[in-house]
Amino acid sequence: MIISVASGKGGTGKTTISTNLAMSLAIAGQQVQYLDCDAEEPNGHIFLKPNIETTEDVTVGVPEVDLKKCTGCGKCGQLCQYCAIISSQNDVLVFENLCHSCGGCIAICPSGAITEKQRKIGTAQFGKSNGVYFGRGKLDIGAIQTPALIRHIKKQIQEDIINIIDAPPGTSCPVITAVKGSDFVLLVTEPTPFGLNDLELAVGMIRQLKIPFAVAINRNGIGDDSVINYCKKENIEVLLQIPDDRKIAENYSRGVMIVEAIPDYRQKFLKLYEDIQKLRKNL
Ligand code: SF4
Ligand code: SF4
Repeated sequence: MIISVASGKGGTGKTTISTNLAMSLAIAGQQVQYLDCDAEEPNGHIFLKPNIETTEDVTVGVPEVDLKKCTGCGKCGQLCQYCAIISSQNDVLVFENLCHSCGGCIAICPSGAITEKQRKIGTAQFGKSNGVYFGRGKLDIGAIQTPALIRHIKKQIQEDIINIIDAPPGTSCPVITAVKGSDFVLLVTEPTPFGLNDLELAVGMIRQLKIPFAVAINRNGIGDDSVINYCKKENIEVLLQIPDDRKIAENYSRGVMIVEAIPDYRQKFLKLYEDIQKLRKNL
């Protein structure tokens, strides 16, 4: 079972919901793994406080040019869609930061002047937190290959346990890489006009990917009914509503999970998991 928790914009409560869901399931005796794929700003560790057992560098292949073999034909620069390699008569410049590791320039070079070398883009960490298997990716400053780092973290997915993916916000390549292959996506939003706008974008993306999904509303009470009305109109299930509660906010600011501060919430998160299972069975 792979459940991705995503949202059209950052700061809606994705990490709150994914970490609390993971911890509630672990306390209930389920085998569960939390993978923080919000690689540009991972913060699940603040709440789960894992014991990190392994840290590894994540690298991607980038081109390296042997100028002695280069004939200056210019084919590599003409091919690259990211302007990451530029050739002139006397030189070939590689901008590793811009390279998307497609391998095209290596394949097209007629004189075999280009080979691949590894470049570090970030770090992957794995460990455990009170029964929850934990993984996270952290992109290096200036690195752009978020999808490659996410793919590395997703290699940890285990088929026989519950995997919860904390996806990056938005609707671009990183979030698509994170949610692809999921059995279910929970879209988290806030009940405000901004929340609705970003939810609509996220729903459009998930529908294109043809993954079953539902909505969770965080900080309920701060805005209006537009999200609920939209979900009714679009026939989208709202599986969880977390109120705008001062006690939750104060504990959040101290890195304390809802299910630790208010243990009654464990049942709500277990019910969320049951409802996700029911929705999947009814498909
Ligand atoms: S590997 Fe692809 S993206 Fe990178 S420089 Fe070569 S053609 Fe451009
Ligand atoms: S394709 Fe190869 S030979 Fe042609 S300019 Fe690029 S590195 Fe040089």
